[in-house]
Amino acid sequence: MSGHAPVPPGATIGFLGGGQLGRMTAMAARTLGYDVRVLDPEQDCPARGVATTTITAPWADAEAAAELARGCAAVTLEIEQIPRPSLEAVANVAPLYPGVEAVYTIQDRARQKQWLAAHQFPLGPFATVMDAAATADAVRALGPSIVKSAMGGYDGRGQVRVRTAEQGHAAFEQLRAPVCVVEAFLDIETEISVLVARRADSTSVAYPPSRNVHTDGVLTWAVTPSGVPDALAMRAMSLARDIASALDVVGLLAVEMFILRDGQLLVNELAPRPHNTYHHSERANPTSQFEQLVRAICNLPLGSVEIVRPAAIHNLLGDLWTNATPDFANAMAIPGVRVHLYGKKEARPGRKMGHLSADGDTPEQALDRVLEAYRALAPPCQ
Ligand code: ATP
Ligand code: MG
Repeated sequence: MSGHAPVPPGATIGFLGGGQLGRMTAMAARTLGYDVRVLDPEQDCPARGVATTTITAPWADAEAAAELARGCAAVTLEIEQIPRPSLEAVANVAPLYPGVEAVYTIQDRARQKQWLAAHQFPLGPFATVMDAAATADAVRALGPSIVKSAMGGYDGRGQVRVRTAEQGHAAFEQLRAPVCVVEAFLDIETEISVLVARRADSTSVAYPPSRNVHTDGVLTWAVTPSGVPDALAMRAMSLARDIASALDVVGLLAVEMFILRDGQLLVNELAPRPHNTYHHSERANPTSQFEQLVRAICNLPLGSVEIVRPAAIHNLLGDLWTNATPDFANAMAIPGVRVHLYGKKEARPGRKMGHLSADGDTPEQALDRVLEAYRALAPPCQ
């Protein structure tokens, strides 16, 4: 098939979304010599400084999406919650990777879970609910649970933890979403993720798992290698590749997984784009997730995903800016530490403003370094 000819460096590629993921992917695309066009609802989006052209329009503006695609050899995205008509408007003009069907399946938590269940991928117990009474029934059946809105949530937003049927009832009303998913609260030992890169000709690679720690539903830090036993890591990698292939994802697919205390490996959720838990790929792997996405959508050879150096990242949320600007020079005095800032002007609590990365001789050392660097940002004696 001639449909898989490479899009050579020097061509123009488009991004739906100019947040930090779009910005870092755009930087990788620039390094390869591509020209970059971005669409984002925010005038001051982080990718603006990296793109040649930035279109400012809401996600529902299908005409703006078509305008982005005109002149692009391929278009990708950094956010899955884009209305289907806008995705279709892009796909009518230029190849969109991942494609409309894959993104549509993933963008709604209920639809995604039903798809995973129908394909017999391992999931924890859950129910899809459309009113408060059904939510109360689901909590009665599942026990302590998390009620999650089907659309619009990220970084733990749009989720309520409940113990009783009454709390379930109240949670549905509080979330004000037409559809929610109720998930049994799982006894998690370790959280991991696996990132898959896949091309239109179906060739794919899976990065070794990342080990991730969340606080209140938001990623705090991630480290690779994960330290999970080899057999389990291989199982997680083949599970992620199977999901990417069943969904026919071209580009990147991140699969968040739970390892339970009883040893079960379950899928938490999917993301068809670069993922916060693989920011350490810029330090650990010969090919970062951002360059890999560009390679995948441009039909270039996929790069090595081997871990050549242990690495870790620690997120920097807006809360850090509450009292003073963080002391970045202090953090950078620690060996192996780099500061990554996304150029966001307003440091709102909970907002991802940047991250720290570090390499090390071992994953423990890499993690110790980012944790120490994080503490160094706000020295206690000031
Ligand atoms: P993000 O956008 O950061 O990936 P999200 O808002 O989509 O997050 P989830 O991935 O559904 O949210 O949940 C965030 C975190 O909350 C998980 O990584 C995990 O730590 C915890 N969590 C989610 N679901 C469950 C569950 N069923 N049982 C126990 N803990 C859970
Ligand atoms: Mg998640």
